[in-house]
Formats: sequence, structure tokens, C-alpha cells
Amino acid sequence: MVCNLCPRSCGVDRAIKPGFCSAGVLPQIARAALHYWEEPEISGKNGSGAIFFSGCNLDCVFCQNHEINHTMVGREWDAESLSDLMLHLQQKGAHNINLVTPTPHVDTIIPAVWLAREKGLLIPIVYNTNGYETIETLRALRGTVDIYLPDLKYVTPLVSKKYSNAQNYFDFASKALQEMHTQCGELCTDENGIAKRGMIVRHLVLPGSVDETRRVMQFLADTLPKTVHISLMGQYIPCHNADFVPLNRKLLKREYDRAIDYCLQLGFENIRIQSLSSAEAEYVPLFDGSIEL
Ligand code: SF4
Repeated sequence: MVCNLCPRSCGVDRAIKPGFCSAGVLPQIARAALHYWEEPEISGKNGSGAIFFSGCNLDCVFCQNHEINHTMVGREWDAESLSDLMLHLQQKGAHNINLVTPTPHVDTIIPAVWLAREKGLLIPIVYNTNGYETIETLRALRGTVDIYLPDLKYVTPLVSKKYSNAQNYFDFASKALQEMHTQCGELCTDENGIAKRGMIVRHLVLPGSVDETRRVMQFLADTLPKTVHISLMGQYIPCHNADFVPLNRKLLKREYDRAIDYCLQLGFENIRIQSLSSAEAEYVPLFDGSIEL
């Protein structure tokens, strides 16, 4: 299988050698469990049925999940076994199936979701992505995904190059978010406030980068309705290779407050903000291939 699933366009046969994301032909799952630390519309009371895939098409210097970013952790799963895993998570009470860093694995995920639906999967599918996507891959997911949970990390090419090794990040992510919004629209929730369909855009405010946050929010204001759901995250902690100024410290309260003020000035109606006390390493899951069923 020659892989051009994401903007890296590696063009490699992953059966012979991996591309940038390090993924092989079949997905490896670093962790699957009920997850309680997503947005309330996603985690709810029962938890989100999170499936953390190994491998990633970005290489963020501050990655909290760096243990599984470019190191493959966990055994391989085919479409049949992945569909059973989804059904097990539903049986445990998960509000949804939350596919974390799914992009390199869509060739297995799409048949797995449809198999699972044939076998009784009723809960929504959440596509939890860094936003570095091609339109072609997203169009292949139409009808498979119910809720998009994309990041929009940066606008400026030099910043995305320095922090995530992806100079063209915004070129692709900006178009990807518009396609996701076209497919799934505004966030819809049930009577308990649990997401059923739609999109939540995530943005992590980085230390020393409030101006980049302003550019991200300006783009969203210019292209999507003011009712779009935005999760403005302030939970940054220095991880992995973030050992240089300004990424070697937590976000300051005054930086986060400036980011919030800017969102409010732009007129967004659905902004979720965080307590800065959630910026602790204890909120990072353990990635050891474990499947909690
Ligand atoms: S999914 Fe992986 S192998 Fe495929 S193009 Fe993207 S980075 Fe390259």
C-alpha cells in the first residue's frame, strides 16, 4: 500500500518501510480505555471510549504523547478486531468511540466502523485529529465520522515548522476544518449535553505565542460561524523536546486571559475555557498497549 493519506505524501509502501508517521500497514493501539479528560460534551459522565493509535504525522517538540508519536506501541489490530474493540467500549458505557491520532489508519478504521455498526455500534464516532489532513482523506471519511475534534495549532509557517516540523500545516489544516464543518456542521448534543454530531475546534495556547492564537482565532472568525464550538486550552506543560525558551515553562495566567479576551472580542458564542490547574503531567495517560475492558 503506497501511502499518501496525509499532507506528508510519503508515497512509501508501508508494508516495506514506514513513512514519516512510523505506522505499518495495520494500526497499533497504545491504549484503549474510558477517558474522562476530554471536553464535557465528549467525556460526559461515563467517559469517552478512547482508542489511542501509535504513530503521528506531526512531530511536535512539546508532544505529551511522544512515547507513541514515532515509536510504535501495542499489538496490531485488523478491521475485525478493531470493530470488536469498539463494541466492547460501547458495552462499558462509553458515550462515543474517540479515535485519537487516527489519520495514518483510516484504511482500517473505515471498514472497522461499518463492521461495528453492522454488529450493533450505536454511539458516535469522534475523529480526534491534529488537523494536518488532506481533503481527499476527509472525503473518504464522510458518513463514517459523526464528530470532528480537530486541533488548529498555528497559522504562521515558520512557527509550525519550528514547533511541529510542518511548514505547510496551516495550508492543509485551514481547508481541512472547512471540509469537516461542511460534513458535520455545528455541534449537536442530546438532553444530557453529550455530543451527537458536529465539530469542536481545539486550540492549545502556547507560552509566548498569544499572537499566534490571535491569528488562529481571526481565521476561525473569518471562515466559520460565530457559533462554532471552540475549546481554548491552557493546559500546556513542557514535555518531550520543549527545553527552550519560551516553551520550557507553563502558560501564564495573563497570557491565557489575553487569549480569552480576544476570542470574546471576536464574538464567538461557544468558547470552552479550562482551569489552568489542569496543566499537570498526571493528566497524561499511560501508553503501554493496555486495553481496559
Ligand atoms: S500517513 Fe504516514 S506514511 Fe502516510 S503520508 Fe502520512 S506520514 Fe506518510
